Amino acid sequence: QAKQAGRSNYRVFNEQMLESASRKLMLEQEIRTALQEKQLFMVLQPVLALAENRVVGFETLVRWRHPSRGVLLPEEFIRDIEGTEQGIAMGYFVIEASLQLLERVSRILDNDQFYIALNLSPTQYLHLDLIGFLQRQLEQRQINPARVVLELTEEVLIKNLDKAMKIMHQIKAMGLQIAIDDFGTGYSSLSYLKQLPFDILKVDRGFVSELDNSDVDRNIVTSVIDLAHNLRRVVVAEGVESHDQRQFLLKAHCDCVQGDLYSAPMDDGEMLRYLAQLGPDLVWRDEERLLGR
Ligand code: C2E
Ligand code: MG
Ligand code: MG
Ligand code: MG
Repeated sequence: QAKQAGRSNYRVFNEQMLESASRKLMLEQEIRTALQEKQLFMVLQPVLALAENRVVGFETLVRWRHPSRGVLLPEEFIRDIEGTEQGIAMGYFVIEASLQLLERVSRILDNDQFYIALNLSPTQYLHLDLIGFLQRQLEQRQINPARVVLELTEEVLIKNLDKAMKIMHQIKAMGLQIAIDDFGTGYSSLSYLKQLPFDILKVDRGFVSELDNSDVDRNIVTSVIDLAHNLRRVVVAEGVESHDQRQFLLKAHCDCVQGDLYSAPMDDGEMLRYLAQLGPDLVWRDEERLLGR
């Protein structure tokens, strides 16, 4: 009986593995086509200096205009192609598309006071050609490297600390900025956090969304903000949706914010209109909305 059950479990396990393997393979094929047919594109979400309501940057986020399934979010495909050849190809697409956008905007607007932040996947980050590719892109597009932020999750740092450190130092030597994304969800220890050459700490959306719920969560967010400041880093709160959250972050001296309260991610056309509306100082003046009226 037990043996039989064991065997059938084994079979189910195998079938599931096969299913997920073939799904991955199919997805890889589809992504290859997507890259060729230009189905992938970037949307942008503004990051603002909290106290002044001034836009300091835009984070680019990848989207897939799938031929039959509509526009897909990264959660629907990124994990599955991570570590594959197509995952890496997509990573280079993201860098290129993001820098191209920055180049385009810089030609239209004379304000060069904001950055473009892009997300790097763990494999992308450790890929051999990353540094060379970035160098060529920056040169070719004549982009000031200080205007580019690379976002890394804690995951990538923990996986291979020595190598991760080495690459971070190379990136910093090139003049780019580094952000630690989704901070608080990984397991980075304070002892090496202080050694890492990064510029920005991004408090994970999960903590921000809990701000309304408990003292514990409010204390965690306050502690992370203080931690960042003690390390002389800039801190960004992600996923700010309500004016109460904004008010709390303001009192806690959080430097920057990003979230639907200010703006959902937008496409490149919308971004240009948004920038034009803000005017030369890049200050966002929709006080009504911020106060929740
Ligand atoms: P992330 O880098 O932490 O990006 C922030 C995510 O939070 C985005 O989701 C954004 O749309 C969402 N968000 C921002 N403000 C709010 C808000 O107020 N409320 C809510 N509910 N959500 C908000 P998205 O675009 O679905 O991306 C999810 C994750 O996928 C990203 O998290 C990032 O880890 C990854 N990702 C996105 N684009 C790329 C990319 O181009 N390359 C790589 N490697 N990963 C990417
Ligand atoms: Mg990010
Ligand atoms: Mg994040
Ligand atoms: Mg996040």
